[in-house]
Amino acid sequence: MKILVVEDEHLIANALKKGLEQEHYTVDLAFDGLEGFDLAASGDYDIVLLDLMLPKMDGLEICRQLRSQQNHVPILMLTAKSQVEDKIKGLNCGADDYLTKPFAFEELLARIRALARRPQKAASEVLTIGDLSLNLSTYEVTRQGKNISLSSKEYSLLECLLRHANKILTKDQLIQHVWSYESDILPNTIEVYIRNLRLKIDKNYKIKLIKTIRGFGYKISE
Ligand code: CA
Repeated sequence: MKILVVEDEHLIANALKKGLEQEHYTVDLAFDGLEGFDLAASGDYDIVLLDLMLPKMDGLEICRQLRSQQNHVPILMLTAKSQVEDKIKGLNCGADDYLTKPFAFEELLARIRALARRPQKAASEVLTIGDLSLNLSTYEVTRQGKNISLSSKEYSLLECLLRHANKILTKDQLIQHVWSYESDILPNTIEVYIRNLRLKIDKNYKIKLIKTIRGFGYKISE
C-alpha cells in the first residue's frame, strides 16, 4: 500500500516515512502544499497523510481541491492544532479522519489501517485468492495454510496484485503502487521481483496464481 505524507517539517516527515516503511508501507514525501497537491492528485496513493499548516497551499485547501476534482483518496489530517473548530473545518473540507500532533505512532497505524479497510467490506482484513491468503494486520501470507515468508517489497507486490485480483496490472502500474517515486526502478526489475515471488508462492503448488500476460503485465487469479 502506498502512502503520501505531506509535511513541511522534514524531521517529522522523515520519521514518519521510516516508521511506515518498517510497517511495509511504501511512502512518498512532499514538503510543501503545492507538491503535495500535485502528487495526491496523481491518484497513485492509497492514503494521504496531510499536515494542516503548509507552505504554498494549506492542508484544508488541498483537501477541498482534491474533493472538488472527485478525488476520493482517504485523507488523514495531521495537525498541531487541537481546537475543535479546526477539526470541524478539516472534516468539512473532506478529510476522512483527524489526528492531533503529537500522536503515538501506534495510534497513527491504527487510523491508517481503519482508512485502508474502508472501501472494502467491513472486517475484511484478509485478502485471498484460491488457497493463498494475505493478512493485512499480521502481514502473514499463507498458502494451503502454510506460512510463506516474503521480503517487504515482495509482500507489497503481492498485496497490490491481490487488491486488483483478476485484473491485469502493467509493470508501470506495479511500480507506481509499490515503489516510491525517488526509487529509479526499471520495468525489467519488476520481472526479478515477480520471479522471486513466484518461487515462494507458486513453485511448489500445482495451480500457479501469478499469470504473465504477454505484452501487458501480470495478474493474480485462480
Ligand atoms: Ca506544518
